Amino acid sequence: KVRVRFAPSPTGGLHLGGVRTALFNYLFAKKNNGTFVLRVEDTDQNRFVEGAEEYIVDCLNWCGITPDESPQHPGVYGPYRQSERKASYRKFAEQLISDGYAYYAFDTPEELDLKRKEIPNFQYGQATRMQMRNSLTLTVSEVEDLLAAKTPHVIRIKVPENEIVHFNDLIRGDVSFETSLVDDKVLLKADGMPTYHLAVVVDDKAMEISHAFRGEEWLPSAPVHILLWKYLGWETDMPAWAHLPLILKPDGHGKLSKRDGDRLGFPVYAMNWTDPKTGDLTKGFKEMGFMPEAFINMLALLGWNDGTDQELFSLKELEEKFSVERISKAGAKFDFEKAKWYNHEWIKQSSAGSLQSAVKNQLALNNIVVKDENFLNIIIDLIKDRCTLLPDFVAQSRYFFASPAEYDINAVKPKWTTEKADFFNAFAANLTLTDAVSAETAFKALAEEKGFKPGELMLPFRIMLVGGKFGPGVFDIAVLLGVEETKSRIAKAIT
Ligand code: GLU
Repeated sequence: KVRVRFAPSPTGGLHLGGVRTALFNYLFAKKNNGTFVLRVEDTDQNRFVEGAEEYIVDCLNWCGITPDESPQHPGVYGPYRQSERKASYRKFAEQLISDGYAYYAFDTPEELDLKRKEIPNFQYGQATRMQMRNSLTLTVSEVEDLLAAKTPHVIRIKVPENEIVHFNDLIRGDVSFETSLVDDKVLLKADGMPTYHLAVVVDDKAMEISHAFRGEEWLPSAPVHILLWKYLGWETDMPAWAHLPLILKPDGHGKLSKRDGDRLGFPVYAMNWTDPKTGDLTKGFKEMGFMPEAFINMLALLGWNDGTDQELFSLKELEEKFSVERISKAGAKFDFEKAKWYNHEWIKQSSAGSLQSAVKNQLALNNIVVKDENFLNIIIDLIKDRCTLLPDFVAQSRYFFASPAEYDINAVKPKWTTEKADFFNAFAANLTLTDAVSAETAFKALAEEKGFKPGELMLPFRIMLVGGKFGPGVFDIAVLLGVEETKSRIAKAIT
């Protein structure tokens, strides 16, 4: 039975890479009739940030990849927040000690600092553990006394010497690590909370996770986790591992970070995130005007493709076509221009009806109230090809709701004549606007009758209706505005 989990730490906004990890977990679950679990890894109380969990849940919902089981919708594998499982972790850590796979360490922060100064690149592990204050170097009664006196301590894994830890990564194939390079990671902290390393193993076991998709940055931790699965006697239940390729900066140099977004002016978070402590706002794709469908589509193609040139996929299609075999090992460059391309394509291929509420929201943000939804749908169909981000609908449609506040005078002024004004007065006097084609025919006929080339009158007409040199066909616009409004705009502009 396929059970996968997205296991973010509630430490802030959700970065692109995090959403992609969630997405790949989700897609794998859907493809295999499995279950997609959200587990909140909140054991690091120093990094815990108020509101981050709600934010993560909102982001997943916005993306349309709502978990089947989560703290909000628990299944029978709870708790879904690690902090709520606190009591059970110590038991496993102590079991590891009695089996000889872990030890108590009593070193104070000062002692550790001293060691770090003494030994360059100090690692607490096979080379150094016998110089430290721990249950490997102290006598049994010393350890008992320290524990009885409630001396602060941690529990560390005892990484074996000269072993090779192997595993088969679904993306990378056979991966191996020499244990001599792995340090004795803390499993249980002085506050009694597990570290990520212990918690992830205990939880994946308790929640019967079958496959673990996570970012490549966790690859170096994999040997510790695999040793723990073995030492806890659960090896046969270990999930299959899949470490996803990094998302790289646009220039391909290094991992994309939040700072790159700030520096280059594009979002790296799914939705706006305001840090509750500093009040700093990090911009999100949602508020910038991305459709969730486009955002998800773009993310899916960061490190995956279906083997063809197809780039546009709906979530449903991704659910059917997703395959681990087609996830690449190489990092995927993030390209904001490409992200916008996806959005533009999605806007173009979406029906007016499905865009309507998003467009209405954008208009509302600009104090434009839509009274007639059918009218709005016609407008959306007329202008959507010109919109890349959702706020573009405002600039592209504003003039349908109010006559232009300003005109691009320079576009018309130099060639303006009273004869042209006469033409427009005459045109307005007999205006009929049943459809764009006949309106254009009438316009051209009148223009020729008065000795104009129709082309020289089109631009002024557009400026009168729209205010600037943009927008769809000017006769389409006039028909939508209707006879009265078109007349009044001509009159207003001429005077
Ligand atoms: N809590 C880890 C994170 O924040 C999860 C890593 C994993 O999926 O094992 O990314």
